[in-house]
Amino acid sequence: MTETTPTAAEKATLIRGVDWLLAYDPDTGTHKVQRGVDMAFRGDRFVDPASLAPSDIGETIDGAGKMILPGFIDIHAHPGFETMLKGLTEEVGSVKLQMSSLYEYLFLFDTTHAGMVAATQVALSELMQSGVTTICDISTPHEGWIDTLGASGMRAIAAPMFREARWYTDNGHEVLYDWDEKAGEARMTAALAEVDAAMAHPSGRLTGMICPAQIDTCSQAMFEASRDAARVRGLKIQTHAAQSVVEFQEIMRRHGETPIGWLNKMDMLGEDMIVGHGIFLDHNDWLGWPNRDDIGLLADSGTTVAHCPTVFVRRGIALQDVGSYVRAGVNVGLGTDTYPHNFIEEMRNGIYAARVSAHDVRASNVEIMVHAATIGGATALGRDDIGRIAPGAKADFFTVDLTDPSMRPVFDPLRSLIYSAGDRPVRDVYVDGIRVVRDGTALAFDMDDAMTRLEAAQKASVAEVHRYDWGGRSAEELMPPAFQS
Ligand SMILES: [Zn+2]
Repeated sequence: MTETTPTAAEKATLIRGVDWLLAYDPDTGTHKVQRGVDMAFRGDRFVDPASLAPSDIGETIDGAGKMILPGFIDIHAHPGFETMLKGLTEEVGSVKLQMSSLYEYLFLFDTTHAGMVAATQVALSELMQSGVTTICDISTPHEGWIDTLGASGMRAIAAPMFREARWYTDNGHEVLYDWDEKAGEARMTAALAEVDAAMAHPSGRLTGMICPAQIDTCSQAMFEASRDAARVRGLKIQTHAAQSVVEFQEIMRRHGETPIGWLNKMDMLGEDMIVGHGIFLDHNDWLGWPNRDDIGLLADSGTTVAHCPTVFVRRGIALQDVGSYVRAGVNVGLGTDTYPHNFIEEMRNGIYAARVSAHDVRASNVEIMVHAATIGGATALGRDDIGRIAPGAKADFFTVDLTDPSMRPVFDPLRSLIYSAGDRPVRDVYVDGIRVVRDGTALAFDMDDAMTRLEAAQKASVAEVHRYDWGGRSAEELMPPAFQS
């Protein structure tokens, strides 16, 4: 269970003398380090500590030896599934489909509702333990999903996926599409019901997002219906686009447009749109494409790119490069997409991927990544009250123990956190002023129990892999474990 503070509504919590505070600076629209300052929150909001009379203050916490950061925002994750793949798909991709794992590996693994609930509990706990306070959960709707999000204590956006086509391959070198518009319509109706259920959740921490799953599996009519459904509800839309060479070529074949160009033609780009993953823009050198229009279309329209570096760098693929997107004026938020659900490692991978792809150490840095992980994500979600430590904003934040060996010696603790420590020194995480991680452990779920259920789900799924592979191969044949063959 998450903690509650009976007097939270009346009394403020004061954190006195915070060693390093990453506070919001409204003049620059980003963060600024403050040293040795007080920080306070009352109920679910930050308050100006200078405005508090002694009688306003309840609990006082010593800020010495602490760095406090705004809670991170993960705008693209699939927690209901990805954790199940741990140890399986890290070293595979389809060589004949330009290294993507989407078409040959993603759908090898079937699972049950119970498996999805276990996977979600594990993933959300791990994300919170790495400083994430808001998650956009892009999942196939399943029984118990909204309840799990609600019970986690996180701020969550339920983004149930729907689509009209499924992709498949029957030879490992050609991707085919199996269309069923009627089934797609039914999936969209069911997804909208989940979105409405999330928005009605009594915690007040859940909202929804409209998620036509992929640019190549939804028709123009489905995208237009998605836009209408989002407008009626005042919600954002997210789809997967520009995520593989195969998809770029398929959209070009169908429509004579790049994936970004096709979204633009359908009038889908804009401040309401999040593109996960936005890698294969026309400038990406894997494509050898002559035009340079896509990045400008994203920037001019205010579209967000959900940047998820880890899942791609695993297969040698990188967005080229995040610094150039930011300099072009594209709003970039960060996502984990896959496992591990360690947001700080994701940020590190994002920096390194940018530098490798640009051949330039200046291509990305801590400031770009932390901004994307906070303000960039909040902008994507249309919120000016999260991703920042400022009076009036939601009290979503976390503490880092500067005395942890992983953080020492302390010269620039933000760099130490991202390049060296990862999630190890993360101690306490708060959402709406309520502690959801205590001393490094997420409080919502029994992790031992969730892991046991997840292991059972993985075992059952692995045994069935041959049924879903075009060549009838087993998990061990497709993904031979290291040093075991
Ligand atoms: Zn994704």
